[in-house]
Amino acid sequence: MFLEGKRALVTGSTSGIGLAVAQALHGAGAEVVLNGFGDEAEIAGLCEELGATHSGADLTDAAQIEAMMREAGEIDILVNNAGMQHVAPVEEFPVEKWNTIIALNLTAAFHTTRLAVPGMKRNGWGRIINTASAHSKVASPFKSAYNSAKHGLDGFTKTIALELAEHGVTANCISPGYVWTPLVENQIPDTMKARGLTRDEVINDVLLAKQPTKKFVQPEEIGALAVFLCRDEAQNVNGANWSVDGGWTAD
Ligand code: NAD
Repeated sequence: MFLEGKRALVTGSTSGIGLAVAQALHGAGAEVVLNGFGDEAEIAGLCEELGATHSGADLTDAAQIEAMMREAGEIDILVNNAGMQHVAPVEEFPVEKWNTIIALNLTAAFHTTRLAVPGMKRNGWGRIINTASAHSKVASPFKSAYNSAKHGLDGFTKTIALELAEHGVTANCISPGYVWTPLVENQIPDTMKARGLTRDEVINDVLLAKQPTKKFVQPEEIGALAVFLCRDEAQNVNGANWSVDGGWTAD
């Protein structure tokens, strides 16, 4: 239980990857603050399972992020994970979707980080882990906002890694390929439309076609890597962008 006494905030942790990361950090002894939307009873169940508290802050809104950070108190492990996707050709990309994706997938990490860093510096210890994506390294068509936000998140992570390097704080990205979560499931209908394909064709010829292993990544694999990044043995892993994509970006 090497994370006993540490407090972790995982954004977007009511579902998918964020939930698996929160469970893994809890399993290593951390006190966890959850964030995200969902069914109230289900969230209450998760809080009970993890002995966690929950903030329902909408991370596209800076004022709600500020309130969440005030309520959460000092954070030792900050996992910027909340994100969303929208698939459409650039000339049809809804402006409001662009703005929301940039706000949630990129700008929210700036706000949580700027608010968590003073406490981390005071304590001389901190871990900032940003869920980026294979799309922080390579692009796919019809995902202009998402690819832009994730490439930006990689740049942001490298910047803060340099700024915080002498303070016992590391900042890294974890970049999954396709992980079977609601985010992936929900983009199948739009991808069918944008590419004129059936559901099975999207799964096999678009999503898994990218992944040399031909398998979806499991959320628990991301949780395990996040726990490793919190270890003392990972104190010199800083400013890195770790692929967990079955070899996709090796191509
Ligand atoms: P998911 O849809 O299962 O979970 C998204 C989480 O974010 C949920 O908890 C949701 O409530 C929360 N959320 C959504 N909008 C929010 C908002 N405005 N404010 C606060 N919380 C909000 O998705 P996931 O697949 O687990 O994705 C998590 C992260 O992993 C995202 O950043 C995503 O881009 C990234 N990612 C996912 C995959 C994949 O294949 N699933 C691959 C690479 C990267």
